[in-house]
Amino acid sequence: MSAPDDLRRGWCPGMLRPMETRDGLLARLHPRGSVLSASQAQAIAEGARRFGNGLLDLSSRGNIQIRGVTPDLHPHLVESLIAAGLMDGVRSESPFRLTTISPLAGIDPSELIDASALAERIEETGRSITGLHAKMSIVVDGGGAVTLDRIKADIRLVALSTTRVAVGVARPGGNKWVGALAPTAVPAAIGAMISATADGVGQRLREIDDDQLTHCLKALPIDPPEIPPFRAHAPRAGRVPTGDQAAIFLVPPYGRCTADALARAASWSQQFARGEIRLSPFRALVIPFVSAEGCATLARDAGFIVDEDDPRLSISTCSGMEGCARGSTSTHADSNRIAAALPAGISVHISGCPKGCAHPGPADLTLVGDGGAYQVVLGGTARDKPLTRAGIDAVAERLAGISDRTDLMRVFGTGRP
Ligand code: SF4
Repeated sequence: MSAPDDLRRGWCPGMLRPMETRDGLLARLHPRGSVLSASQAQAIAEGARRFGNGLLDLSSRGNIQIRGVTPDLHPHLVESLIAAGLMDGVRSESPFRLTTISPLAGIDPSELIDASALAERIEETGRSITGLHAKMSIVVDGGGAVTLDRIKADIRLVALSTTRVAVGVARPGGNKWVGALAPTAVPAAIGAMISATADGVGQRLREIDDDQLTHCLKALPIDPPEIPPFRAHAPRAGRVPTGDQAAIFLVPPYGRCTADALARAASWSQQFARGEIRLSPFRALVIPFVSAEGCATLARDAGFIVDEDDPRLSISTCSGMEGCARGSTSTHADSNRIAAALPAGISVHISGCPKGCAHPGPADLTLVGDGGAYQVVLGGTARDKPLTRAGIDAVAERLAGISDRTDLMRVFGTGRP
């Protein structure tokens, strides 16, 4: 077990090395390819009920976290997940999984390459490299319906055609396209790039200087950069067509799901589809191959978001005081208050403290927990200078008087207490 401070040093919790939180141990599971069979999803739900507090979080890397595990029951949880085949093929050390893919990877007819298969080859390469930074991440985007440009990554691979993949590298100012490769050449090239960062201290790619990056790229069989074309974002919730069938994206509000809700999703995957659930990096459960009506209605009734215009999709939030010792506000309950008053088109981040775990980037409105109230930041991050401080009632009251983003400064920029 590890203390929360470890997170500041780039450490990540896993199933064998859970993290202490306010509501018990948090054990993160990294299912291979972010794919679960219905029986595996049922096993996770059962484990969360019997050995945890019945709550689960979906992560922005397609992982799932079991909350509220007690130290004496943790070994039993691990045993149950091993028995369900859920610990197979995962790196034994952090980073437990390098790649992030679309939840439709490998089954999306509009994909240019099979991103699922390519990601698995990169994982195989990565398993032989030790000393990588714990948060090293590689986005593998097959060019299909779900674009991954909003997912942060050290290395970004985007299919340009069936025979070309664009390679981008994180730099201090954002992603930089550095070259293009044939898909077959990608695993070895990526292996060489990340090996260079593993030497010594285990850096992230945005931390190496330009000379190091140039030196690293010179050694690779990489062609001049090509910039992938713009692709519209697929809906984050509800039905996404996949050829003759569809996938249903079920979003638990703020990424928090109950064991019962996961178990119900598993049974719907058998009733309406092929008994499979995928974990989306946009914090959704995805049921692919749905061939009958009715799944979305049941999911809505069970509390999942299945409507793309649901205002809760505009809010990012962390576990707050219920799950983290640094939080002093009930971020999920307060998010529901804000959602009820939120006009469309405004992004909100409600953070339990300035660490900003749920959303490192800027939002139109960021509320940062502070002694039971919130510091209010407009157009910035949880670490930026606030304009004012207000309780949740006052924030909701001010939001009720606005119609769009431009009104935020009018209602929060006055410094009213
Ligand atoms: S942002 Fe939220 S989860 Fe992260 S340390 Fe602060 S209170 Fe805890």
